[in-house]
Amino acid sequence: MDSNGNYYPTNGLSSKKLVCNIGHCDKKFQRPEHLKRHKDTHSGVQNFHCVMCTKDFQRNDNCLEHYWTHVQVPHHKPKRNPRWPLEELERRVQRTTRFPDPANSRPATISTEEAAKIIEKLRSKWEKEFPRE
Ligand SMILES: [Zn+2]
Ligand SMILES: [Zn+2]
Repeated sequence: MDSNGNYYPTNGLSSKKLVCNIGHCDKKFQRPEHLKRHKDTHSGVQNFHCVMCTKDFQRNDNCLEHYWTHVQVPHHKPKRNPRWPLEELERRVQRTTRFPDPANSRPATISTEEAAKIIEKLRSKWEKEFPRE
């Protein structure tokens, strides 16, 4: 057992697995980060997820930052994420306080406070990137 309380069985190379030792859980994982993520579900640590796609974040500020990658920015190369003009994205974020986004394969709604935070973050970032003269 290591200092995090993770158990690494050493018998047999092929069965090298990480086991969750919380309660009688006994779930097995191949990768430490998967075990860690799973353990968070026991400890009540909240995972944050983007309501526009399926990305998960362990920290709310990372999640807020991520919404910027859904903004259609002039002269930027298109990336894999679906992107919308800022106003359209704001509308979509606001709508998910009532309905999950139909394009999101893992539907989720957010609170109006969360939506307000996301929109505020997007607007301040937009103003920083494209200051008005
Ligand atoms: Zn577990
Ligand atoms: Zn996203």
